[in-house]
Amino acid sequence: MSEQRKLVLATYDLCGVCAMPFRDELRWQVTFDDQLQHMGETPTFNEAPVHEVCALYAAQVCPFVSSPHARLGDAQRKGQRRAETLVLAGFDSTAAVYGHDSELQVGKSILMFDMAGLRRTHRLTGADDARQVYEAALRDEVPIQLDDAERRIVDLLCAPTPEEGEDSGAVMAGATWFIGAAFCPQICQVQAMKKFAEAKDDLYLQLAANFLFEPDMMAKWEDASDASTAAAVSWFRTRESLPGVLQQWRVAGARRVRDSRGRRPRISDAAIVPQRDEAAIRRRQEAESALRKGRRKKR
Ligand SMILES: [Zn+2]
Repeated sequence: MSEQRKLVLATYDLCGVCAMPFRDELRWQVTFDDQLQHMGETPTFNEAPVHEVCALYAAQVCPFVSSPHARLGDAQRKGQRRAETLVLAGFDSTAAVYGHDSELQVGKSILMFDMAGLRRTHRLTGADDARQVYEAALRDEVPIQLDDAERRIVDLLCAPTPEEGEDSGAVMAGATWFIGAAFCPQICQVQAMKKFAEAKDDLYLQLAANFLFEPDMMAKWEDASDASTAAAVSWFRTRESLPGVLQQWRVAGARRVRDSRGRRPRISDAAIVPQRDEAAIRRRQEAESALRKGRRKKR
């Protein structure tokens, strides 16, 4: 999967297989054997998470996962032992998404996904296993309802590649920069993002910064001729709350940018930016003023 498509999935918080939102479902990643036990509290993956049914579906049809002998995973490539068990891991949330040096290609950064809150696993040793668990999951599946703005994003992302044969993720990535992906940590080091990172007059970063200061400015872009941009700002403006990863990027962006008077944008998000503890601020001010008084007396 292209890095640009991964960025789009991360921004809108969509499944890497079906491109639909997660809602409150677990987010699944693919591991092998006992790999998971050595990955720590928030394991890092180089692929976007997927729904449970989507992971199980992929496990049956994709030779990469359904047959450990067909092709060894990147993580296994260096190992001597072939993977025998496919372990699908379901997490509560995507904790962070950022650019990071690729272990396979020196000097190339790729997007990484940190996952948090491991809830369940499926240990699969063959295609039959996968089929049975898949059929059970399919019976429990709740259809995902999309609002209009989400539908536009998903339709664009699933649209057959245009005449140029370009990945729809590549077409949509630019618009994700505008609404906050420009502030994804180390995004400029990801090679596929060069076009946006090195654009004339820092167009993508500038617009992202302007939208941080004045999100209402996005309204003007809802009729943009570029379908991805129009869909992105319409989606942004109709969210009650933003996906955690996108909000983290915007909070990081707010720490970086200043306007001409040196002010930082105000990002309102109680869930991520801790509430000001007024009592603690008062205590600190009192302690500081006592310290100043003490100094004055000494003189
Ligand atoms: Zn899915």
